[in-house]
Amino acid sequence: MLAARLSEDPGTTVALLEAGPRDWRPFIHIPAGFIKTFDDPRVNWCDAMEPGAWTGGRRIFAPRGKTLGGSSAINGQIYNRGQRMDFDTWAQRGNRGWGYGDLLPYFKRMERRIGPPGGVDATFRGRDGALTVTDTDWRHPLCEAFIEGAVQAGIPRNPDYNAAIQEGVAYAQRTIHRGRRVKGTLGSTLGFVRRARFRG
Ligand SMILES: Cc1cc2nc3c(=O)[nH]c(=O)nc-3n(C[C@H](O)[C@H](O)[C@H](O)COP(=O)(O)OP(=O)(O)OC[C@H]3O[C@@H](n4cnc5c(N)ncnc54)[C@H](O)[C@@H]3O)c2cc1C
Repeated sequence: MLAARLSEDPGTTVALLEAGPRDWRPFIHIPAGFIKTFDDPRVNWCDAMEPGAWTGGRRIFAPRGKTLGGSSAINGQIYNRGQRMDFDTWAQRGNRGWGYGDLLPYFKRMERRIGPPGGVDATFRGRDGALTVTDTDWRHPLCEAFIEGAVQAGIPRNPDYNAAIQEGVAYAQRTIHRGRRVKGTLGSTLGFVRRARFRG
């Protein structure tokens, strides 16, 4: 995303270094394809964590993207911003510029939020960015029952957990649009690649 944005300035040349290949494989772009790329060493570093006491001595598989777009090319496409209080705690500890209020304009500029039916809360959500964020349009009785169970346990439904309050239960928002993965660099990478003459 950053490389693509920088390269929008025709006077700027950006060198993007990527160890992996170009992102042409269909399973990168088909949303459910992440099951296939989850352990495909052609687009995934397939790292493993060091064994430790807290994992019973096991090495836990740790996938990481190895292609244009990095892990955003193979991730689960759930769109969750960080928790407001975490950012504010960073700022309180001396990291000026990292509070939620500081970062919110960038979250908004980054995204193109589509939906929900009740309308987009413009205080918290952006409409004009490169990263399209949509609601899950799929429903399942088990998920409905789970959500209803949460509500009965006192956890409120949250129609937009990336807006004012993160707490609550909801279907996940996702970086999927018109049946395809929205990578941080999907549309813009192609333009960027042309401009930067990337050879992967
Ligand atoms: C399977 C999986 C599911 C995930 N699900 C979600 C999700 O649903 N929602 C969510 O928000 N996040 C999810 N994540 C996490 C999210 O995708 C990452 O946190 C994010 O993409 C990290 O971005 P990054 O730019 O820091 O690193 P990366 O996206 O990992 O980018 C690093 C890039 O550097 C390249 N590179 C590394 N070493 C070299 C080298 N020596 N030379 C040249 N290039 C190199 C890599 O190939 C890679 O392209 C998931 C991640 C994975 C792997």
